[in-house]
Amino acid sequence: MTNRMTLRFLSLAENVGLARVAVASLASQTRFSLQDVDEIKVAVSEAVSNAIIHGYLGKTDGWVQVDCLLDNSGLTVTVEDWGVGIEDVELARQPAYSRDPERMGLGFVFMESFMHGLTVESIPGQGTRVEMRRLVTISGELSRDAQ
Ligand code: ATP
Ligand code: MG
Repeated sequence: MTNRMTLRFLSLAENVGLARVAVASLASQTRFSLQDVDEIKVAVSEAVSNAIIHGYLGKTDGWVQVDCLLDNSGLTVTVEDWGVGIEDVELARQPAYSRDPERMGLGFVFMESFMHGLTVESIPGQGTRVEMRRLVTISGELSRDAQ
């Protein structure tokens, strides 16, 4: 089974929930456990929140796009914005790094720990693209389809 979804919405904080629910609903179409789906939701929330908060710096008229590809071995989620971009991706991905001292700087850490692969591409002044993949596992082991 293969399924695809593209969701495009404005950079409003309210839309974090929209993205979470839509991706969770899609993920539930394959053999992810409830815990898997909860972890995917956290990763999606972090990526979408980053696009809204950091990408557009509070501006509510930017586009955020979430693309999903679901197949028997897992789910790939891409979150893209056309905002300010990231000067130094390696630094931004460090645990506890945040441009805002009030924040924990743990979004990328959550994405990395809950997903099986995370790619961050960004061009300052043009935007950011975060791609993450979660594989279907059976009690922690990769399923046959995912190998
Ligand atoms: P937390 O997620 O714990 O609230 P945070 O958002 O600062 O804090 P991360 O999600 O790990 O932490 O992101 C680290 C840093 O990377 C951010 O502080 C920001 O500078 C930069 N960043 C992340 N995503 C984007 C984005 N889409 N556009 C621009 N900058 C980003
Ligand atoms: Mg964050």
